[in-house]
Amino acid sequence: MAVKNLEEYQGVWVFIEHSGGEIAPVSRELLGAGRKVADKLKTELAGVLLGSKVEEMIPEVFARGADKVYVIDDPVLEQYRTKPFTHGLFNLVQKYKPEVVLMGATTLGRDLSGAVATKLETGLTADCTELDVDPKSRLLLQTRPAFGGNIMATILCRRHRPQMATVRPRVMPEPPRQEGRTGQVIREELGLREEDIETQIVEVIEEKGKAVYLDKAEIIVAGGRGLGGAENFKLLEELADTLGGTLGASRAAVEAGWISADYQVGQTGTTVRPKVYFAIGISGAIQHLVGMQTSDVIVAINKDPDAPIIKVATYSIIGDLFKVVPALTQRFREKLGKS
Ligand SMILES: Cc1cc2nc3c(=O)[nH]c(=O)nc-3n(C[C@H](O)[C@H](O)[C@H](O)COP(=O)(O)OP(=O)(O)OC[C@H]3O[C@@H](n4cnc5c(N)ncnc54)[C@H](O)[C@@H]3O)c2cc1C
Repeated sequence: MAVKNLEEYQGVWVFIEHSGGEIAPVSRELLGAGRKVADKLKTELAGVLLGSKVEEMIPEVFARGADKVYVIDDPVLEQYRTKPFTHGLFNLVQKYKPEVVLMGATTLGRDLSGAVATKLETGLTADCTELDVDPKSRLLLQTRPAFGGNIMATILCRRHRPQMATVRPRVMPEPPRQEGRTGQVIREELGLREEDIETQIVEVIEEKGKAVYLDKAEIIVAGGRGLGGAENFKLLEELADTLGGTLGASRAAVEAGWISADYQVGQTGTTVRPKVYFAIGISGAIQHLVGMQTSDVIVAINKDPDAPIIKVATYSIIGDLFKVVPALTQRFREKLGKS
């Protein structure tokens, strides 16, 4: 059912994800993106903070660009569960009618956005990599890879409100903090008791094993099919160790069984935005590029001068990786006094 009075809906909202009293990086990134959208629409930007004892995070939401913060602070919201969070966010949207609602494309964001959009009977574009707005029609231009990543599709939500999108972490820059910036805080009750919820969290078990924090890495040394075998990742490991970086991989290398899927960068892997990204023996298929092309500096090492990765690279070294990588590692070791 289409919403009749689209103009009743005003303002851009960013759902603020957090853990341990800290706002998730993706929510800070979205406050930056949301600010741009709100400015183009000449409307307000609001952060939506749901949880237990969340008051301390309010100043940070303002410092990252919000004009308003909607808060529901309730012990029932201490840990994420679909029902109470959906209930809280749905009621806020029904009451205050935002034009746009943005969330991180995280495990939580994907779950909550789907549940809320379904209840609101509005559209949701998942996993966007770009957001813009047409100020005339006030439509949010929600761009994401489509058809297996072979094209980028821009999706519009013409007849329903709010326009909802999730955005992948690390595809948008974090806005700088604006010290002392403040605004209006609107507090609401959750209106749901523990007894009303069927699910209980009995215990939280931390995942063990070697964690790969690709999305937080500042230097990534990634390898692809050009490496020719699992044993050759050793060359990349030496370069990564020298620079204090983390390994990464293309899907071809993962599918060949040379490295675990935790290291995969791209559309069906992790989206990364390091300071330096080395793409070694990686051709630069669109599904790989969407996961790394916003890195600050991209260094491509490839024997093919026409490989697509060369077009997005800041620096390209055309040559055989088996010669180039050891020489580069050696040179960095000398420069960094590690030889
Ligand atoms: C739905 C879907 C989702 C996908 N998701 C992802 C994803 O998340 N991430 C991802 O990476 N891919 C993904 N892919 C796969 C993607 O389309 C490509 O197949 C893959 O990225 C190719 O990996 P590659 O660059 O390592 O291999 P290739 O394309 O085979 O490239 C190998 C490169 O190595 C170079 N090379 C070879 N030997 C040397 C040498 N000795 N020295 C220097 N260079 C050398 C070659 O010139 C070539 O450019 C997806 C595909 C689909 C359909």
